[in-house]
Amino acid sequence: MADCIFCKIVKGEIPCKKSEETEHFLAFHDIKPQAPAHILIIPKQHIARISELQNCHISLMGEMLLLAATIARQQGFEQDGYRLVLNCGENAGQEVFHIHLHLLAGRKFAWPPG
Ligand code: 5GP
Ligand code: ZN
Repeated sequence: MADCIFCKIVKGEIPCKKSEETEHFLAFHDIKPQAPAHILIIPKQHIARISELQNCHISLMGEMLLLAATIARQQGFEQDGYRLVLNCGENAGQEVFHIHLHLLAGRKFAWPPG
């Protein structure tokens, strides 16, 4: 997607503070962190939102969760805990229409969320 900001980050056209890269994913620090640690995990493939997922994406999404857990373990978030967030659509506040998993850590999170 030519005008997608996260596709541009994947292509290296927009810089990011990279945390991890695999064959199918890029993980980088959020530009406006909402917690002491705030990492975005995005598939390199452009998929606009969770509601567009199809059967062919099942293993990719499993890989995304496993990568989040791996990064959390490597960064030392496991003991205190962390939050994973997927915003889908307007009411959830999705701003960037390229699937991204928020990995938030380093503070206590409220429930229900705001
Ligand atoms: P959403 O609200 O769509 O779930 O979250 C989008 C996230 O992307 C926000 O937390 C926002 O701060 C982050 N973001 C938007 N543009 C950029 C960018 O150019 N670089 C980085 N690193 N994060 C971005
Ligand atoms: Zn994209």
